[in-house]
Amino acid sequence: MSSKSFLKCIGCGAEYDSYPIRTVCNKCGSLLQYTYLYEEIGKSFEGAGFWRYASLLPPVSKESIVSLGEGGTPLRRAKNLSKKLGVKNLFLKDETMNPTNSFRDRAATLMISNALDLGYKKVICASNGNLGASIAAYSANAGIKSTIIVPKRVDLGKLAQMHIYDAEIIQKGEIVDEAIIEAEKLVNGNYQATPELNPLTLEAQKTISLEIFEQYGVPDWLLVPTGSGSTAYSLWKGFQELRALDLIKKEPRIVIVQPVSCAPITEAYKGNKDIVAVKKPETRALALLVANPAYGKLALQAVRESNGTSIAVPDEQTLEAERLLAKSEGIFVEPASATAIASLQTLLSQGEISESETVVCLLTATGLKAPYVLEALAKDRLDSRRETLGLRARGWDISTKLKILRLLDLGDSYGYEIWKATDKKISIQAVYQHLEDMERKNLVQSFTKERRRYFTITEKGKRVLQALEELIVLL
Ligand SMILES: [Zn+2]
Repeated sequence: MSSKSFLKCIGCGAEYDSYPIRTVCNKCGSLLQYTYLYEEIGKSFEGAGFWRYASLLPPVSKESIVSLGEGGTPLRRAKNLSKKLGVKNLFLKDETMNPTNSFRDRAATLMISNALDLGYKKVICASNGNLGASIAAYSANAGIKSTIIVPKRVDLGKLAQMHIYDAEIIQKGEIVDEAIIEAEKLVNGNYQATPELNPLTLEAQKTISLEIFEQYGVPDWLLVPTGSGSTAYSLWKGFQELRALDLIKKEPRIVIVQPVSCAPITEAYKGNKDIVAVKKPETRALALLVANPAYGKLALQAVRESNGTSIAVPDEQTLEAERLLAKSEGIFVEPASATAIASLQTLLSQGEISESETVVCLLTATGLKAPYVLEALAKDRLDSRRETLGLRARGWDISTKLKILRLLDLGDSYGYEIWKATDKKISIQAVYQHLEDMERKNLVQSFTKERRRYFTITEKGKRVLQALEELIVLL
């Protein structure tokens, strides 16, 4: 296949043909990066959605393209929110509108098309959520098997997506960093779709910038929720390619946004030092829970070259921003996305961004993927209303029972596994007490399989679970 691109090693500079696509350098093992022959690429794009930008993407044969209608997401003018925040031109790049409701569908369409093109029957992907859901969906559509390696801390909605799309799910480690190492070990001749190990992710995600350019032009600022750093860097790369095509004269200033208690890139930026892995990473924005960001260096480069900045915001501010966005604009995002809105408040109050400048916030994924956030948001109110409901008086520990019911709703399980899923915050005996209590109330039933006592959720249990979920939202 003729191609207008080639691969260049980010370590030693060695060059390779771009087709068939390879991921790492034979000579030094570093990641390879796409470089395009811009003078041979046209300045206009054809078609709709993600594949409109095929001329600026790694080559995939047309008949191998696996698409669910990703990309082409709206750039919404935030009329109400901009008034509340005191900025004139605020736009939201709404990636919740993608087929599995996150921006990662862009990476999935490109990687799964590539896998199909190269004749792979199975893909491996380590993910802390959104990409796992995307890869599982696109693999299902392509008739390819998928194995997703997830850490313990993963949003329940994303896990549910992986289950329903019939991925094989392997749990490894507390956070995604450990899952990535496992994915490297398990690949065994199958297609590697882990973003930290496959440069196609960077290529796919840059289409967000190409769309922003076509929808608006070049904003002054682009605020990017950041975990591994791949998104911030690819957005920067997208605008640089538009400049290489002579379509724009300047790039936006890139802002990296991280949660305060997991901000390795921001700390490196502020201290003007190398990136150091976070020892005890913690945040409710699970999509950003990355201790050692694989693309951190490249993301920092994007910030420095664009004269942008890197900022950290506390979780409380993020959850407030999530609510503010939802009630102002009718858009419900996951906490990771809300960090962008939270950081805008801070940057405006510090005078870093002025009210007359144009700002685009990247909204990465829907809030429906992270139902524990509903719990967190409603918790205060739930605590005060519990007495009224008489639930506390009857000795109901709602949060644990709810967790157990949610888990069993996804499939049968046994005591030890259930205990692990409760983050081991209570004793295993307490978990059994909850299970026995719920069995007496006919919310769960137990049975023996392979000498283990398994639990299954009953119809009544399902009704109670649904009612509780509704209560949490309504209270
Ligand atoms: Zn190399």
